[in-house]
Amino acid sequence: MYNIMPTYGRIELSFERGDGPWLFTEEGHKYLDFVSGIAVNTLGHSNKELINILSEQSKKVWHTSNLYEIKPQSELAETICKNSFGESVFFCNSGAESLEGTIKLCRRFHFNNGDKNKTDILVCSSAFHGRTLGTLAAGDNENHRQGFGVNTSGFIRVPFGDIEKISKFINKNTAAILVEPIQGEGGIKIAPEGFLKNLRNLCSENQILLALDEVQTGIGRTGKLFAHQWEEIVPDVMAIAKGLGGGFPIGAVVATNKAASGMTPGTHGSTFGGNFLASCVAKSVINQVLKNKVLDNVINLGDKLFKGINLLSLKYPKLIKGVRGKGLMIGIICNINNAELCSNLRNEGLLSVPAGDNVLRLLPPLNITAEHADICLKILEKTLKKLEVN
Ligand SMILES: *Cc1c(COP(=O)(O)O)cnc(C)c1O
Repeated sequence: MYNIMPTYGRIELSFERGDGPWLFTEEGHKYLDFVSGIAVNTLGHSNKELINILSEQSKKVWHTSNLYEIKPQSELAETICKNSFGESVFFCNSGAESLEGTIKLCRRFHFNNGDKNKTDILVCSSAFHGRTLGTLAAGDNENHRQGFGVNTSGFIRVPFGDIEKISKFINKNTAAILVEPIQGEGGIKIAPEGFLKNLRNLCSENQILLALDEVQTGIGRTGKLFAHQWEEIVPDVMAIAKGLGGGFPIGAVVATNKAASGMTPGTHGSTFGGNFLASCVAKSVINQVLKNKVLDNVINLGDKLFKGINLLSLKYPKLIKGVRGKGLMIGIICNINNAELCSNLRNEGLLSVPAGDNVLRLLPPLNITAEHADICLKILEKTLKKLEVN
């Protein structure tokens, strides 16, 4: 690690292999992985179909650049659009890039319509959109911006979930509203019921775009392929990444043709975006999530884990307060320090990841079984019991 730039507070733990929701160290210790690389390993580790598809494609061609047509990319775009509001997709390699593309698309839409001043994006309190200069400006973490000379002009901060207050920020310079359906890094924060529907109406009335950051909520995490589908609304554009490649880096900007109308040849690009390997893997991820009742599994096991954690919060109220989230996007609201609970769970063999607001996240693979959920609850109970004694 000597040559690794120390930008992360890393844990001294490394894994050699994974199998489903399990990770194994070189010494053979096993951990139940309820982090999934932060909502990335949608189908767990070493998924057979993904291994086959990746190895078969790797024998043919890996990369040609977007100078040429890439068949698996076209097929992936078709799969995404068939199962969402989308009509037009741009591929990139990460969440932050998908947000950069989304922001560019919103501004370019108005530019293309002759509204050159409509460049302001309304962004939410406690939002997280990535670590590039543009997405740092859009996000609400002042510490992340510290010392990087980030120019936040063009981004207007509004209160997450408060439609009345948000409506007052719209003016002639407003291009779009950008929001996470459920805030992930911010602490699994859920807006009041109807918020997205109200935002949709507000945007339509004012002829501005509704842009969703589904980087963490997308690809089945909440029990629908995309979280906004719970409210049956149609956004204009959506950023996805994390779970899309099941561990292979890929992101995408998904839009209606109308919203994408400014994205003409030469306006945007990515060398690696949607290459052969990434595209064929992502297509299989989506197809697997849509079959085999994976989405039902997310809802059922989400329910089971929510119930179990709620019971534990009644039993150990000094340690945990409750649980929030949707499907398998689960936030344990802590009364003790979330990082402390995280490391204690890790010592008992369960991996979890802290978020804002002193919340501890559980983001298991979507294809776990009831048995895995039970193991998780057991480890949680055992750990809370120990912590209460101390
Ligand atoms: C993780 C995340 C991002 C950034 O994704 P990267 O791949 O790390 O660039 C953006 N938005 C949300 C909601 C995220 O959870």
